[in-house]
Amino acid sequence: MITAKHLTKMYGNSKAVDDLSFTIEEGHIYGFLGPNGAGKSTTLNIITGCLSPTSGEVSIDNLDIYENSKEAKKKIGYLPEIPPLYVDQTPREYLEFVADAKKVSRKEKKDEVERVASETHIEDVLDKPIKFLSKGYRQRVGISQALIGDPQIVILDEPTVGLDPMQILEIRELIYELGKKHTVILSSHILSEVQAICDKVLIIYKGKMVAFDAPENLGKTMSSGACLEIICDCDKAAAKDILESIESIKTIEDDSDEKSDTSNEGETESKFILHADSAEIKMVAREVFKAFAEKDIVLYELHQVKTTLEDIFIELTKEEESSDDSSTKA
Ligand code: ADP
Ligand code: MG
Repeated sequence: MITAKHLTKMYGNSKAVDDLSFTIEEGHIYGFLGPNGAGKSTTLNIITGCLSPTSGEVSIDNLDIYENSKEAKKKIGYLPEIPPLYVDQTPREYLEFVADAKKVSRKEKKDEVERVASETHIEDVLDKPIKFLSKGYRQRVGISQALIGDPQIVILDEPTVGLDPMQILEIRELIYELGKKHTVILSSHILSEVQAICDKVLIIYKGKMVAFDAPENLGKTMSSGACLEIICDCDKAAAKDILESIESIKTIEDDSDEKSDTSNEGETESKFILHADSAEIKMVAREVFKAFAEKDIVLYELHQVKTTLEDIFIELTKEEESSDDSSTKA
């Protein structure tokens, strides 16, 4: 549906987007995830034809976004990071203006405005000046503008930024609904948001793609494998002795709170994070259980630590940074 090949964007000497290639397929909600300054908005501006790349190509259903710009752009609805709203207008006036710009016929215009208003639940405020609307409603107006002309693809750049928690939930719900009819791309720097709405995640860092997968698959590709957390009823040294005898544990990480060793007189509790291969994690758990039982030491806790997108993000960007360090020393 969207094919981006080797996109690069230079601003002066700095690379905002660095050789980015990806394919967006129909029927998914994609998340572009990355910290501020990663290159999300620049990439979205390029694939929507609002900004030309320094090099690389974008095609929408095999139409080049520059050579067949009119046809290609018809397939996309875009809500940029800063929505182009005219606050003195009412949503109806604004949406009619957008419909004209998108060449919706005069006959269909009224129905089209009402259709997008109903899709984004702004029917009740259609005739109220935008400046009197809450931020949540303004964002809905921005989204309805993207829906004019019924594009197959809807692209939303950080659509929940600046909203309060209730409004965020409502906008997420709305995006989820949009995903049933359109292919959606949304950008976000919030991991939990992407995790909550998207079924494909593209992680961007320093203009490069560092991962592209379903949120649940990202964890499986982690080089650090899986982790177990244990809390045992003995001091650190004794626990370490036991843990070091278990070969399948790759690394033993001391995770005790400074306080817990000393808080209750005579009581010692140690907490560790154990790293191992994902495929071996259950076996490791059994071995840990047995090893402590053999020494008559109680395990208060033994559980697998679920990998979150946050962990993945930290790991992926850490790798990037260390490879950057080695390659860009000039
Ligand atoms: P994101 O949307 O992920 O926060 P952006 O795409 O906005 O990231 O920015 C990527 C990088 O490009 C940043 O370092 C930013 O400062 C830089 N940048 C963005 N727009 C411009 C511009 N018009 N001129 C110069 N630098 C820019
Ligand atoms: Mg941005």
